[in-house]
Amino acid sequence: MSEIRLIKPYISFEEVESDFRDIFASGIFTRGQHVEAFRHELAQYTGAKHAFLTTSATTALSVCLKLFGIGPGDEVVVSDFSFPATANVVEDLGARPVFADVSLATFNMLPEELERNISARTKAVIFVDVFGNPTGVHDIKKICQGRSIPLIEDAACAIGSGELGVRCGNIADLTCFSFHPRKLLTTGEGGAITTSDDNWAEWFDIKLNHGARGMKGMALDFVEYGFNYRLSELQAAMGRAQLRKLDQCVQQRNRMREKYIARLVVSGYQIQTRGSDVCHNVQSLVFRVPEGCDRDALIQTLKDNQIESTIGTYSLSAARYYRKKYQNVQRNASRLEETTITLPCYPGVDVDRVVSTASRRDSNN
Ligand SMILES: *Cc1c(COP(=O)(O)O)cnc(C)c1O
Repeated sequence: MSEIRLIKPYISFEEVESDFRDIFASGIFTRGQHVEAFRHELAQYTGAKHAFLTTSATTALSVCLKLFGIGPGDEVVVSDFSFPATANVVEDLGARPVFADVSLATFNMLPEELERNISARTKAVIFVDVFGNPTGVHDIKKICQGRSIPLIEDAACAIGSGELGVRCGNIADLTCFSFHPRKLLTTGEGGAITTSDDNWAEWFDIKLNHGARGMKGMALDFVEYGFNYRLSELQAAMGRAQLRKLDQCVQQRNRMREKYIARLVVSGYQIQTRGSDVCHNVQSLVFRVPEGCDRDALIQTLKDNQIESTIGTYSLSAARYYRKKYQNVQRNASRLEETTITLPCYPGVDVDRVVSTASRRDSNN
């Protein structure tokens, strides 16, 4: 029996081989044509005016918080069901992450929970497109606009997704993407920021380039202090090859999702739901397990049958560090952390085999 892996990258060496040969021949490994082209293609694809490449979604989020000078005494409301990086970037700057609970259906931040957690100290909101699903982001945007609070979309998982006909990258004030191998488009490690604000774009241009703007004679003119969170040419070439076929991947994953739903819902599994005018890239295919089913035992049963699966994701407020420090555990997010499972979803997965193993009674006790 062959193993069914949880993920499979949508890129082969053959697809980048000739670009890699050119890069090696030219000796230009950074700040070359692929980086420039990938940036522009990302802006064009998402509809945002500007795109910047970074080393990860974590560095992207961190730089966005720095743009607003967020630090000690400030609060940032964050979706509670996410990967810890969403809160870590706030904590790292000495500000306080305020955990907003999420919907048990969409897994995304609830508008009423956002409203309840906004205070005079709130300097930004980080909404997470959980598993690439942007459902509700426009409602959150409305609240933020009404209060003049900047909205940062943690779209680490959401390249290729959108809501109300607008792609992720062009909805929030700032959007951060990840190109980690667990995401739909990977450059090994990597990330991006998109925005349509010219002033912020100018700031990113300088800060992401060591603080330099233009030249002073023959030398760089360092008008600010800055960072290096750049992506390399090889990585950018990988990204470009995948961006070209992204929409096709999203369609394939949605077909797989339908196959799973048709077979698993009858066994009591509940799929992560989405709004009617949402394009969801299905970065992760996540179900809530049936009532009374031991999720961890189910993952083990699948593993025993050579099928890789994993939990959904984490309640940030329930992570040991944040629980101890803030004692503010959110109910729905921690329920989801305990009851969700991610199943293999890519072309070629033997859905029948996964489903029949997942539906067996011995894992439902
Ligand atoms: C993966 C992920 C991150 C971190 O992305 P990196 O590129 O690995 O830094 C942040 N937020 C969410 C919601 C993620 O899924």
